[in-house]
Amino acid sequence: MKTLISALALSAVAGAPVMAQNMESDYASWPAYSGDDLEMTVDARGTRFALWSPKAKAATVYVYDTDLNTPPVDSLEMRLGDGGVWRAQTPAPLYGKFYTFRVTDASGRRLDETPGVWAKATGTNGRRAAIIDFAKTDPQGWAADRGPELKAMTDAVVYEMHHRDFSIHPSSGIVHKGKFLALTEPATRTPQGAATGIDHLKELGVTHVHILPSYDYNSVDEANLPANEYNWGYDPYNYNTPEGSYSTDPANPEARVREMKAMVKALHDAGIGVVMDVVYNHTAGGDDSNFSLTAPGYYYRHRSDGTYSDASGCGNETASERAQMRNFIINSVKYWAKEYHIDGFRFDLMAIHDMETMDAVAAELKKINPSIFVYGEGWTAGDSPLPAERRALKDNVGRMTGIAVFSDDIRDAVKGHYSDAADRGFATGKPGNEETVKIGIVGATAHPQVDYAKGNNSKRPYAAAPTQVVNYVSCHDDLTLTDKLAKSMPGSAEAERQRAARLAQTIVFTSQGTPFMFAGEEVFRDKKGVHNSYKSPDSVNAIDWTLKTRNAAQFDYYRELIKLRKAHPAFRMTTAEDVARNIVFDKTDAPNIVSYSIRNNANGDEWKEIKLIFNGGTTPFAAKVPKGEWTVIARDGVLRADGLGESKGGTVVVTPVSALILARTK
Ligand code: CA
Repeated sequence: MKTLISALALSAVAGAPVMAQNMESDYASWPAYSGDDLEMTVDARGTRFALWSPKAKAATVYVYDTDLNTPPVDSLEMRLGDGGVWRAQTPAPLYGKFYTFRVTDASGRRLDETPGVWAKATGTNGRRAAIIDFAKTDPQGWAADRGPELKAMTDAVVYEMHHRDFSIHPSSGIVHKGKFLALTEPATRTPQGAATGIDHLKELGVTHVHILPSYDYNSVDEANLPANEYNWGYDPYNYNTPEGSYSTDPANPEARVREMKAMVKALHDAGIGVVMDVVYNHTAGGDDSNFSLTAPGYYYRHRSDGTYSDASGCGNETASERAQMRNFIINSVKYWAKEYHIDGFRFDLMAIHDMETMDAVAAELKKINPSIFVYGEGWTAGDSPLPAERRALKDNVGRMTGIAVFSDDIRDAVKGHYSDAADRGFATGKPGNEETVKIGIVGATAHPQVDYAKGNNSKRPYAAAPTQVVNYVSCHDDLTLTDKLAKSMPGSAEAERQRAARLAQTIVFTSQGTPFMFAGEEVFRDKKGVHNSYKSPDSVNAIDWTLKTRNAAQFDYYRELIKLRKAHPAFRMTTAEDVARNIVFDKTDAPNIVSYSIRNNANGDEWKEIKLIFNGGTTPFAAKVPKGEWTVIARDGVLRADGLGESKGGTVVVTPVSALILARTK
């Protein structure tokens, strides 16, 4: 989702007219239902339907033989029971059939058919829910399948990818291009012989892939896959079933389930976890969404005139503060964690949700698997009726538990402002970003040497611990780092821009917090200068893997950088107290210079002290380093986790646009 607004003034709800207040109290009086048997359960004893819709006048289930375009073979009238749930059942186990609901609303109007909000399998385009036997979709060894164990979220290295970007280019050598199965294929190679696919991820060393929306979204026509439509997928349709266009057969409801599980299993077998990008903050449709066709009005926030409020910038926003919407979000992520073994969740426009819901999400997921982590965008894309003090904002993250937010502070300070293509940052020679880079280095926690008043974005330490911050310099949104550097460094040579990218990512990967990178930056991929490529063709979005050979030194640098971080807990501290005690900044007024040490064998590190000096300027910087026995880890645009050589300290020159990293091992 576009990153538009990081903090908003208090909303207008305080002065809302009587009508809106009446609607709100009315919704609060609707009974909620937290059981996990909504909307269909099936076993040898029969098939049971259960639709939550407290104000409906009537509800009917239609049963079909096929996923599209055939008349129903049966219908069942439902009866209203406890908790606002309408129920119907049949002794027949309806495996292989499809179903929809049709609700008569409080005014007596018959709404359109809907697969409901809890469809766990569907046919083409998600129009009809499917009844399948989930046990038959499990890969071999699924019961023993586990993702990587983490002591803390800061031990993760997150790689954000889109299924098509990653595998669709002919050079990927992958058979199932653009599909879940692409990530199950071993030993795939480029024509030059470089590893692609899952082997590439292992070689790079990332711990988790973060897959862009992979639930069933609305925009790509699953009935016409040869059209090769592209979309990021931020237009949710069925939240609890995988997207059909990523399967080999959208009409076969088992295929998308089986193939997504196969993807998770293959990644887990490679030691890599899977983070899902989830978009509960809005739906693709308004009045025609599955929420509106089951319980009209309830799941959304509205303005005082009754229209949809729009903090998502996509036409509507959901209402997590209402009991049944909160139940829905919590039960949905729990379902993905249990059925698909998902290892983490990235919440789109998380600040549209209330803090209480996000705290409950994190707490419930930790009960299933303590290694699961949750992060999100701590902003909205427009104003919301939810008061700012209740929103899961970046500014409020210190009041939440088990939740992390993206740091737009480090992002914009290092590379320049995200929305101004020509703007430069610390790594590209623009002075004035030094203090904000330091905010990034300490993971936005309180530090005695960091003056938040000089921060570009945040003016106070917002994270209670570095585990609450995700550091990055680019993601699917906005320009890729490659394109940003091209637009902000006109007339530069590509080698200069690659050098700037190395410095930028070195700052990210050595900072406290969780590092996050956009797929393909390790081979210097671009998107032809397109900043919002959400529906751009493959020619813009596909990663050309021949770049891996062309930019082999770049890939090598990234791989070593990740290796360095994973080998050294000093970069992965978990408490603000440790960060404040172990990180010491060197005094310097030089522009585009940040110099600091991580001391005291921080966080159990074998290294006594790590000295990091970043020079984002255009002239060499003569640094004064204490005399002693140092191992050189990075110098002049080259990095080796195991060391490049020795240094005796004293005056050490840091070349322009590079990081000097020294380690004192004894
Ligand atoms: Ca779809």
